[in-house]
Parts: sequence; C-alpha cells; structure tokens
Amino acid sequence: AAPRARMVVANWKMFGNLALCRESLPRLAAAAMESVELVVCPPAPYLGEVGRLASSSGVHYGAQDVAEVTHGARTGEWSADMLAELGCRYAIVGHSERRDRHRECNQTVAVKAAMCIAAGVIPIVCVGETMSDRESGQTEVVLAEQLRAILQLMKKNAMFVLAYEPVWAIGTGLAATPEMAQDVHAFLRRQLALFSPAWAGSVTILYGGSVKADNAASLFAMPDIDGGLVGGASLNVNDLLSIYKAA
Ligand code: PEP
Repeated sequence: AAPRARMVVANWKMFGNLALCRESLPRLAAAAMESVELVVCPPAPYLGEVGRLASSSGVHYGAQDVAEVTHGARTGEWSADMLAELGCRYAIVGHSERRDRHRECNQTVAVKAAMCIAAGVIPIVCVGETMSDRESGQTEVVLAEQLRAILQLMKKNAMFVLAYEPVWAIGTGLAATPEMAQDVHAFLRRQLALFSPAWAGSVTILYGGSVKADNAASLFAMPDIDGGLVGGASLNVNDLLSIYKAA
C-alpha cells in the first residue's frame, strides 16, 4: 500500500489580513516539499487571494467550514461546490470552536464531511474530548461516537483526513504529550480498522492543540501521528515553517 500522506495544516481561524496572505504565501510556496503537504486555511474572504498566490505552487488551501446543504437561503454560508470551484483541496469540518459556539453536533459534522466528499473536497474532520470527558474517563467513548457518526455517512475508502484535537489543548499552550496523543491516534486507527482494515492504514491522522515550533518534532515522531493542525503558531510564518520542517 502507498504510505499515507503527511501534512501540516495552518488554521488561521479569524485572524490575518491580505498583508499576511501576501507575505506568507510566497515563503510557504518556496518551502513546500512533495513529501509533506502544506495546507493553508485562511478566513473565507481570503480564499480567492490565497488561491491566486498559491497557484502552480506546492501549497494547498482550504476553508475552515462548509455548509451542510448544497445551496439555498443560507445567509453567511458557502457550499462545498463553491470551495471546489475556488480550487480548495480541503475543508476543515467539526472544529471544536464550531461544535461549541455554533452547536454543531456529530450528525451535522458528518453531513458536512459527506458534502465535501461529494464535491471533491477532502474534509479534515476534527474530533476531540474536553477536559471533563478526559477526567471522567470518557475520552475513548466520546471519540468513538464522534468518529462513528462520520463513518456511517462515508463510503468506505473515501479520502478524508482525521484531526485529533483535544479541546483542552486548543489555544491553551498545553499540548498533549507525544505519548498521550499517540495513544489516542492508535485508538482512532483501531476504530477505523473496525470499519475497514485496509483503509485504516491509509487515513492521515493529524494532531492539533498547541503545536509549536519546539514540540512539533516530538509529536510528529510518533508512529500514528502523520502531521499537525496548527492554529496560533500558524500565523507566524517562521514558526509555521519550523513546524512544517519537523513533519
Ligand atoms: C486549532 O485551532 O485547530 C488549533 C489546534 O489551535 P492552536 O494550535 O492555537 O492550539
């Protein structure tokens, strides 16, 4: 089987501006290697500019969310087809900030992932437990439920990326230890294997949650961690490039 893709995904959240796009994309393009994918997910209004700057470079780009329907009276939303038309290879779905602030449930996240796949956009599906889930010993139960909802709607062997993002590690500076993250990644891969053994080995599983230039290498060295989803540190091009090189 082909080895699974390694990648680093920059999630700018609602930060940055056109100047950041114009400063960072040429530098990222110069650093992009075939062996590790580099993906930038800017705020949606900048996708056109990022697409223009990334064109014919090795840098891929994507959105931070997508609607759960193909079209309609949905003010403020955009469809997976629109992302495909803009050249987005990826869309993040189910980020904990969407699950929390916008009340997205497992079913909504699963439908969004299916919409992406139908449009030819690869969903980067985020799963993760809260601190209270972890403290009450519910981590695996919560993750298995989040994953099951997605797998039920997905055709076997569909292209998708899984991102393990413990909610307590996002934006807190408190990353999971490499061993802790590896345990969860191996668990997620075993869950995928229950669904399709051949598929499980080919799904890229990213770690996200306070990945920084100084902890990236030890996280990415773990056998089931195939790269990272990076929030805060991705807004600094030097930090993002250090993290990328660690993958
Ligand atoms: C994220 O937003 O996906 C994330 C992991 O954020 P941070 O790296 O800032 O913790």
